[in-house]
Amino acid sequence: MNKTVVLIATGGTIASTEDAAEGAVNANLSGHDLLARLHSRPEGISVREEAFGALGSYALDLGMAHRLCRRIAAILENPEVVGVVVTHGTDTMEESAYLSDILVTSEKPVVFTGAQRHAGEPDTDGPRNIADAIRCAASDALRGIGTVVLFEGDIHAAREVSKTHTSRVDAFRSAGLGKLGEVDGGEVYLYRRPTQRVHVATKRLESRVELMLLGLGSSPEYLDFCLQSGVKAVVLAAFGRGNAPRGFADAVRRLSTHNIPVIVASRCPEGRTLPVYGRDSGGCSLAAAGAYFSGSLSPIKARLLMSALLGAGLTAAELTAKIRGAGAS
Ligand code: ASP
Repeated sequence: MNKTVVLIATGGTIASTEDAAEGAVNANLSGHDLLARLHSRPEGISVREEAFGALGSYALDLGMAHRLCRRIAAILENPEVVGVVVTHGTDTMEESAYLSDILVTSEKPVVFTGAQRHAGEPDTDGPRNIADAIRCAASDALRGIGTVVLFEGDIHAAREVSKTHTSRVDAFRSAGLGKLGEVDGGEVYLYRRPTQRVHVATKRLESRVELMLLGLGSSPEYLDFCLQSGVKAVVLAAFGRGNAPRGFADAVRRLSTHNIPVIVASRCPEGRTLPVYGRDSGGCSLAAAGAYFSGSLSPIKARLLMSALLGAGLTAAELTAKIRGAGAS
């Protein structure tokens, strides 16, 4: 009997064609259209498609991404379904995929994929990526490893992957760690399993979590602006091990005393944050001012984790434990 996989279409380049009148590329194809364009259907797998939307992923927001995750979880409760494929724009794919990783508790595979060349291009990469993603979603090897991104034959953990090229078809990398596996000749190969998954049970995501990329001599004024404007947490994409320009430690203290968590992640794509340096807003003075450190979790993923943790209404002690767990692997 065939295995059943559900494909949820959300839009993105993979579902886009060029509108000659507008002179722009827009998402307009349904999941049904995407399946009709496959070069060949993976054998032994029935695919049911479900519409979610047809948007560029730059236009999605946290509410929509949360709705998508709830839908994935509901579909996977059906015992007839072995896995889910989500077709998604590449710009924010790593974010929706990571949210799915922390919110969806099913052991069944969830596989995000997309394309860099739109569906109207003769050498679009969409159909091959979809076929490979369907194979992954139906594969027993991928059970229990969390949400993955399948792109250009490579399988990446949602927690570890980022889009690293604006236009090439091999756009995704897991810096410092590498892919989990690959699809080659229609076969799924898994080389390693992620060691830790953090789950967050929440009915809502806190959308007022801001992210600040630090540069040489950046001003901490933005942190005070966040405090005044009712932001609920701030993630700093800080230097190296987790250091910031002068003045940031004092600003972090002002936010901490108002129970606004500040999370220090690193703008380096590889390695972990750790308080090492002292005065002038080195990591130790940020920690002393109350900042949390994200370990190996990237700034973009740390922001989503905070949205979920604050949405779940965790206490400061629970926040500390969860952030430590999420940043440990
Ligand atoms: N460049 C994007 C894509 O690959 C646009 C988007 O994220 O929707 O789909």
